Amino acid sequence: MPCIKILSSLEKRTKLFATNLISMQYPPVQNYINGVFVDANTSRSINVVSPLDGKELSKVPMSTSVDLNYAVAAAKDAFPKWSKMPIKERVQVFFRYKFLLENNLRELAHLVHEENGKTMDEAIAEIEKCVELTEFACSLPQLITGELLEVSKGVECRTEHVPLGVVASIVPFNFPSMVPNWTIPNAIALGNCMILKPSEKVPISAGKIAELLKEAGLPDGVFNVVHGGVEIVEAICDHPDIQAVSFVGSTKIAKIVYQRATQHYKRCLALGGAKNHLMVMPDAIPSMTAQNVAASMSGCAGQRCMAASAMVAVGETDHIIQKIVEEAKKIVPGKNLGAVISRESKDKIEQYITEAESQGATVLLDGRGVKVEGKENGTYVGPTVIDHVKPGMSVAKEEIFGPVISIMRTKTVDEAIAIENSNPYGNAASVFTQNGGVARYIIERASAGMIGVNVGVPVPREPFSFGGWNESKFGVGDITGKSSIEFWTKLKKSTVKWNPEAGVNWMS
Ligand code: NAD
Repeated sequence: MPCIKILSSLEKRTKLFATNLISMQYPPVQNYINGVFVDANTSRSINVVSPLDGKELSKVPMSTSVDLNYAVAAAKDAFPKWSKMPIKERVQVFFRYKFLLENNLRELAHLVHEENGKTMDEAIAEIEKCVELTEFACSLPQLITGELLEVSKGVECRTEHVPLGVVASIVPFNFPSMVPNWTIPNAIALGNCMILKPSEKVPISAGKIAELLKEAGLPDGVFNVVHGGVEIVEAICDHPDIQAVSFVGSTKIAKIVYQRATQHYKRCLALGGAKNHLMVMPDAIPSMTAQNVAASMSGCAGQRCMAASAMVAVGETDHIIQKIVEEAKKIVPGKNLGAVISRESKDKIEQYITEAESQGATVLLDGRGVKVEGKENGTYVGPTVIDHVKPGMSVAKEEIFGPVISIMRTKTVDEAIAIENSNPYGNAASVFTQNGGVARYIIERASAGMIGVNVGVPVPREPFSFGGWNESKFGVGDITGKSSIEFWTKLKKSTVKWNPEAGVNWMS
């Protein structure tokens, strides 16, 4: 790679990193190609700003297709050796990586906290989820066994899962460590070599992930990171040597990526945005429901694709709504509520609230105009509960991605289901009730991939897979769990006859 100036060895970078942790400033972000941190082939960069207090943390390069080409070449070179290694050997790297994640949990969480703005507790939970995802990858040898059957006398058919080659993972800002780890352990343990394209808003965690994978013994070139924006995403979709693209982000971009990648005959799984509905019945347990609703709408400052964003209150539910407001009041920006990603995002969320109010909705708890003492440049929005929202309003229909819940009132369960069904997304839906029949009725009718009963954030845990429906996901299968095996591998079918006396079977 003659054009790339190698700035620092891994050791030097780690030292720099540690020094800068104290001053809360990080060295400029570099790409990670063929086991080395390298400068991008560009002078263009953008600032990485902490939403917690508006401080500049680092700069991230806007890499070009030249950088991507280096990364793909390194991954392509590494593929033959890595893919031929038995999977039981490949997963040994991830056993070590899991322990490294645990040993470095606080540092990893601190990075997520600083660059994304979520609370330290939420960041710790994010890294704990990375551990769980890696544990699943370690179990892949147990799950990937093919099939073998004597299909006619002396003739056997056999299937095996074969890795695809070089694959790419494009990720969003809201989980700087977890979403990359949805794809890295499974895709790589299954024998692929990967290019990760982090979000330019939160690029720092990816460097630490690369360091830990190297320390875990992952051979150079198997995992690479190319930072940047639109140009890199487009180059990934177009690159002839990339076999598969996974994308997680907004629906608007998921559609673009899905279309562009499949236009180039690549396998693509593109997860998009969400508008998750909670349906609250009058018999729901008020305290439990209120705690779950408040936690779901405000966790990670509402910046979760599984966040409760709309609530449909069926029948007499005033007592539950009152409790939700009481619970939401306990959520304090800068304490147990993190910041939203940017000034632009804060303004947009506040505009949604203002618009709903002007259209006749009642703001029961107002998170606009919040300032956190000592962090005046942080981008915080307080928990917001909006009641008497009509289904046609923007707050009822659009993904707000902030700590805001929009409550609509209906008389019947069927009206609630009709509202849920009419939204174009389909990530998650939940029902709060003590009636098993009503719960089952809603499970069968909600148009979403992940359903909760008395659960505010119904994320399926490993080994169950994660993935929505409708405009929340484009492509077949899910991104995690057993379903990911189908995405990251292709099936080889062999028919074998060693015994000449077996004769000619009916097909041949
Ligand atoms: P985003 O769509 O803006 O960005 C995602 C990725 O796409 C980033 O890496 C970004 O650099 C790239 N990108 C942005 N604009 C692009 C363009 N015009 N062309 C090509 N690439 C482009 O999403 P975000 O704001 O980073 O993340 C928040 C969104 O992600 C929300 O909508 C949220 O619901 C969604 N999300 C969905 C899931 C899920 O599982 N369905 C999980 C996490 C986040």
